[in-house]
Order: sequence, then structure tokens, then C-alpha cells
Amino acid sequence: MNHAQKNANEKSNFESTVKDTEMLRDVATYICESCGEEIELMLDHSEGSHQEFIEDCPVCCRSNIVHVEIGENGGVRVWATAEIA
Ligand SMILES: [Zn+2]
Repeated sequence: MNHAQKNANEKSNFESTVKDTEMLRDVATYICESCGEEIELMLDHSEGSHQEFIEDCPVCCRSNIVHVEIGENGGVRVWATAEIA
């Protein structure tokens, strides 16, 4: 194997590693409880398989409690409930 070919192999390994990392940054959507709009959300898998956080709707500015459930098979469930006033 000559030197140039070795470098090419290392480059392609690096690219596939980057691609795998990007696959963990999933985009999920939930429906805003107040206005019914579909809101996009970046999933953070490092926060665990059950997540709950408050997010202001970018459309109507009401707060939603966003629930995230990540199954062992990688299936993701995201839904929102209205924040209790
Ligand atoms: Zn809304």
C-alpha cells in the first residue's frame, strides 16, 4: 500500500464517524397544545430516554410541557401538554 492510498482510507473512516454522530441528533415534532401548530424539536439523546421540559411555542408563545420517550429500539415518542397555569 502506498502512502497516498493509506491517507484516503483514513479520510473515509473519519467521514463515516461524523455521519454516525449526526444520526443521533434527531429532529422530532410535537403539536402545540394551544395553537395546534407542528413544532420541530432537536432531540438530545444524552438527556436520557424519558425527558420532560418546558418550551415556549415559537408560534403562539404559550408554554408547553414537552414529553420525550425514546424506546430501546430507537423509536421516539414526543408529545406536548399545556402548562398548568
Ligand atoms: Zn402554539
